[in-house]
Formats: sequence, C-alpha cells, structure tokens
Amino acid sequence: MQGAGMTSVSRRLLGRLRDVMAGSGSAQNRLDKVVTLIAADMVAEVCSCYVMRAGEVLELFSTEGLKKESVHQTRLRVGEGLVGDIAAHARPLALADAQAHPNFVFRPETGEEIFHSLMGVPIIRGARVVGVLVVQNRTMRHYTDEEMETLETVAMVLAELVASGELVDRAELVPVDGNALLPLRLDGVKLNGGVGLGVAVLHRPRITIRRLVAEDPDVEAERLKKALASIRSALEELFSRPEMRDGEHRDVLETYRMFTEDTGWLNRIGEAIRTGLTAEAAVQKVHDDTRARMSQIADPYLRERMHDFEDLANRLLLRLSGDEDGTPRPELPEAAILIGRNLGPMELFDYDPKRLRGLVLEEGSATSHVAIVARALDIPVVGRVKDVLDKIEPMDQVICDGDSGQVFIRPPEDIRETFAEALSQRQLRLAVYARLRDLPAVTREGVRIAIHMNAGLLLDLQHLHDSGADGIGLYRTELPFMARSSLPDVAAQSLLYRKILDQAEGKPVVFRTLDVGGDKVLPYWNPYDEDNPALGWRSIRITLDRPAVMRHQLRALLRAAAGRELSVMFPMIAEVAELMQARKILDIEVAREARIGNPLPGKLLVGTMLEVPALALQLDALLPLVDFVSVGTNDLTQFLFAVDRGNPRIAERYDTLAPTMIRFMRYVAAKCREYGVSLSVCGEMAGRPLEAMALIGVGIRSLSVSAPAIGAVKTMVRSLDVVALEAYLETLLESPDHSLRGKLRSFAQDHDIAL
Ligand code: PEP
Ligand code: MG
Repeated sequence: MQGAGMTSVSRRLLGRLRDVMAGSGSAQNRLDKVVTLIAADMVAEVCSCYVMRAGEVLELFSTEGLKKESVHQTRLRVGEGLVGDIAAHARPLALADAQAHPNFVFRPETGEEIFHSLMGVPIIRGARVVGVLVVQNRTMRHYTDEEMETLETVAMVLAELVASGELVDRAELVPVDGNALLPLRLDGVKLNGGVGLGVAVLHRPRITIRRLVAEDPDVEAERLKKALASIRSALEELFSRPEMRDGEHRDVLETYRMFTEDTGWLNRIGEAIRTGLTAEAAVQKVHDDTRARMSQIADPYLRERMHDFEDLANRLLLRLSGDEDGTPRPELPEAAILIGRNLGPMELFDYDPKRLRGLVLEEGSATSHVAIVARALDIPVVGRVKDVLDKIEPMDQVICDGDSGQVFIRPPEDIRETFAEALSQRQLRLAVYARLRDLPAVTREGVRIAIHMNAGLLLDLQHLHDSGADGIGLYRTELPFMARSSLPDVAAQSLLYRKILDQAEGKPVVFRTLDVGGDKVLPYWNPYDEDNPALGWRSIRITLDRPAVMRHQLRALLRAAAGRELSVMFPMIAEVAELMQARKILDIEVAREARIGNPLPGKLLVGTMLEVPALALQLDALLPLVDFVSVGTNDLTQFLFAVDRGNPRIAERYDTLAPTMIRFMRYVAAKCREYGVSLSVCGEMAGRPLEAMALIGVGIRSLSVSAPAIGAVKTMVRSLDVVALEAYLETLLESPDHSLRGKLRSFAQDHDIAL
C-alpha cells in the first residue's frame, strides 16, 4: 500500500517538475522553483541544490529553507562534510541525526543548526557527479527507502539542467586547453598490434533524452519491451554472420546476450518506469546509478563488464529516443580512427571494418571485450590514453600505433609520411614473406630451424596456414577463460580444443595449461590484493592449489585429442616437485579416461616452461621427466634481472641480448641436448630477428613466435651461416658488456644476414 502511495506522490511531483522545467525564466529561476516544489512535496523544511564547480568544489546554488544569503557563498570541497561525502562516493545518504555524524561540518552562514535530519543524493550525469540534492528536517526524521528513490529520480531530472552549463556564468567555465591545435603524442597501452592512419571519428554514445516524465507507465513498459526485442533480434542477426560462427568474440557476444536477459537490471528499469519516468529516462537512471557506484570498484574485470551494460543501455537509448531501429552510425570517412572512452563488444560492429584503421580508447585493457573483438577484426588498438577525447577534434589526423602503444594527433607532415612509408614497406615485406611461406626455414649450410607460432585465440589458427609455421609452439589457453563470465566446463573446453586441433590439420600444437593470476585476472576467482602479483599466486601455483580446475582442463584436452597427438605444457614451474605434482594429476586423468573407455591421445607429450631461473639449476632432475622444454623469455628476463616487465621505467634497463642471458640460453640448450629433450624458446625475444639469431648461435633450433614475426625470422634464418655465428658468439660470452646487441648487429651486416 505504502509503496503504491509513494509512487503516486513521486508521479505527481514529477509532473509538476516537468511543467517547471519546460516553463520560462532563467535556469536559476527554474532551479529555485524546483527546490521549493521538492521541499513542499516531500514535507521537508529544507531542500538545497549544490552544483559542482571547477576544482572539485560544490557550491550551494539554490535553497528553500536555508538562509538565502548563503546561496553562491557556501562551498564545500568534494569529500568535505556530508554533501561532499555524497559527491565523493556518488552514493546517497539518509541520517536521522546528521549532526552526530563524524563527517558533519557546520556552516554558520546557512543557519542549518536547527535541522537534525538530512537526506541527500548525488546528481549524476554520465558517470560524473555534477551536484548534490539535499532535503533536511527539524525533527530526527527517518527517511524511507521510497523517499530516497523519489529524491534520486528527481535528481536525475535535475541533472540535465545542472549539467547544461546554463546555471554557471559562462565566463567562469574552465577554459579549453590552449594547446588544442598543436600536434600531440600520447602514450597508452598496446591492446592490439598494427598501425593505422586516418581521421578522427569520435565515438560519443551519449544520447540526450528530451522526454523524461511519462504520461502512462504501461506505454513506457511496452516501449522498453519492444526496444529490447529489437536488440535481441539484431544480436541474432549478428550471430548468423559467417565470421561469427566460432571464436572467442562469439563467447563475448554470448555473455552480452545474457545481459539482455538480466532480470535484476530489467526489474530496476521497470521500477523506475513505474515511478513515472519515460522508458529512456528509466534506462538512463538505472544505468547512471549503477555506473556511479561501480566506478568506486577497483576490480578491473567488474569494471570491464560495466561496459557491456553500458553498450546495452546506449543501444536501448538509441532506440527509445526516436531512432527506432537503431540505425548504424553515420558513414565513416575512407580511413577512420575511432576515438572513445570505451566501447561495448557489440559497438565495433556498427562501424564498417574496412574503413576502420584504428581504435583509441581512454580506458580498456588487454582482456576488454572490445580488444578481443578488435583482434578478430584485425584493427590496431591503443588503450588507456588519458583524456584523449578532450584533446582531439573530429576529423583531426590521427596515427594509431598499436605496436608501440602511442597515438599521434595532428601529426606534422613528416611524421605522417614516415608512418605512411613504413606502412607501405610493411605491405611490401608481407608480400615477400608470403612468397617464403612454403620454403623451409634452413640456414645457408642447411641447418633446419623449426619456426612455430604462438596463439591464444581460435582465430589465430588461420595464420598457422597462411604463415607457413611448423605448428603452434605455445597455445595460451587463458584467453577463452577470460572472455567468459564463468569457468568453462569440460564440454565447452574440449569443444574448443578439438576445434583447435582440427584447424591445425595435423601440425603439432602445444597447449599450455591455465596461466592466470598476476595481471591476468579471472572474473570468477576473487583476486587477492598482492603487492607483487608477478611473484604471487599465479599460474601453476593457482592450478595446483585448485586441482579441480587443472583436472577439468586436462580432461578436456585428452578428450579433444582422442587418438591424435597431444602436447601439454605446464607454466611457471619453479621446482621439479611442482612438475611431478602436475604430471601426477595428468596421470590420474589419463587413467580415468582409460577406465571409462574414452579414447586416449595417440601420443602424449609432456613439457614445462622454463621461466623461473631456479628451474635451470635443477635440469639434471627435471629433464629425465619431460619430453620438451620451452623457455618463456618474457618472465625469465624479469626474474633473471629482477626487473618488472610491466614497468616502463625499467623495462628497457636490461637487454635480452646481455651476455648473461645468452650464456643462460647456451647452458640450457647444452643440457637439453645432453638429455635428448627438445627445446624451444617462446617468449617475445624469439620473434625479433637479431635475438633469434643469437639464440640459434647458442644451439637453439626451435622458436615459437607471434604470427606477424614469422616472415622476418624465416628471412633471417635463410640468410644465416650458423657455423660462423657460433664461433663468433663463443668469443663474446664472457664479455662484461651490458649488451651484445651492437656487436651482433655488425656481425649480421658483415655476413649479409637479413634482419
Ligand atoms: C613468457 O613468459 O615468456 C611467456 C611466453 O609467457 P607469457 O608471456 O604468456 O607470460
Ligand atoms: Mg610467462
């Protein structure tokens, strides 16, 4: 009963607010009327509106009940007092005895000492708090949840007025960056490789809602239903496209489809409609509330998932605010670089991929759904470029360098030419490499070097054949785990692994077991806050502690192989005992499969990664137990030199071509040869021609590199004279130099080795 009563009260209030907002008078005048209305309607002696000003200051802009002379005088910093606290945390507050609250600050000019209770809500526009709306009472009043809801709804209606800028004296607005038209180079994070040149197209999904208050809630509920149905059918259409048949981007959209069925979210929108908002205002309100609260959450996975909701909310808003069929965005220029805060997984499909040359985001991470989709569409992406939207104008020239994680805005002619030249050189080189595809990777004297490929997505498999790689030397299995919202079960995993083996068409694939933790956080495992995640609970340490996960993965791999060869590799092994423990789990699974009569792999090879230097001192115990070893130089370098691989300040401090590193590799190569165990190197180092040359020079005969690096490495191999190189390297290994890079480069030059 009471709930229904409140709903009608807020509906009446909303109707009156609509009249005031649409009426004449200055913005200040309308705001004054609004606070008077709210105070009367909510039976509060005070209603005040604070507006966010430059420098994170909240200024009292209008009040009913406090002293009028305090308007435009009383100011609170964000975080200061109860009003500042509401703004800082973007969350409402209701207190029967506000003055007893530790954050209460007394402002004598307002005369508020006689009011005991206080309820306040943030005024939110987009993800930003633009003000705070407060009511106060003399008595120690206990505000109800319904009253809080009402005030939140009103705050949302007010948001447009507060954020419109009409209230604030134009001259006081923060000036735009005076450098706006100069060339800029901004640093970000590489999310997908490649380089693109084009003109900026701003992705601003924000839609202005014109109609906030509804005539008839039933009509609005129906409009919402229709809009949802049309999104679902658009999704179905997307699923039926050939490029969506499989791959992780399909998983991403499957997760997205689940959001369109999320009852919690839909119920909240339904409730907002019943309070008298239009369908679009209800979507916006629920979305703004969630987003403002979520922005307080540090967990990167949860924050990423917000963008799926954001995408969905925007899509709904597009349809509800007039653009009924959600028409695709305007045609892109011939070569476009899309700039946005973040994109939902479905949004990229709105743009013509042939014209999209790059994507620059203010947010995003390697596991963002949009990054996975961009990878599928082969679009370079640079993420976490701070404030890029403020620094760029539509149609500005932009270079999106996904290889170095940099963005050039309005680059001068010479930089543009340099990049354009590099791009066409790259095309030329690709054409040359394509011709090498079917030629073997042999040195001049006929030494065969195996060149494998690193992969992590089903779609990488297409490169296995067009690059001419010998096989997949490292399949990182964690990506599909990260694209989903829950742990994939044995059936789902085995389906994926089977597809990988099918598509490899008999070429060997080395599956690395789950290597998460550190910076690769899984959504469904609570990450511990670790001071040193690279040295923390990660990789094999997690899967040995959670053996069920490991068992399911191994079971899925065994079933996928069924009669075919299977290579399993364990990551981050630091001691032989860990390898033995992992191997035991594998043996248990093999026995189990045999017992239930499932076909076993035709051949089962077990290997380990060598990433932790300690393992190199246990090779005599380790090598008799494994079929192969693969050196992960990315982690190895960071542990060998005690240097964080993700810290740009020191990432370049030590060189992978330091004599120590090369000596280390020579030692491991010799040991593996002695025990007849195959050895490969799969870190990034192996994909750089000069580094690959050095590795071959100390006895390594197998490399696993990213697909784009294969051509260059093969070209180097085919021009190499190993015997001369080995002899030369022997003379360098004891050198105290910081790096052998210079000397090796000169050697390559003198011997016509193509780098
Ligand atoms: C490595 O550490 O070199 C490696 C190949 O593993 P990842 O880069 O996936 O940690
Ligand atoms: Mg590693």
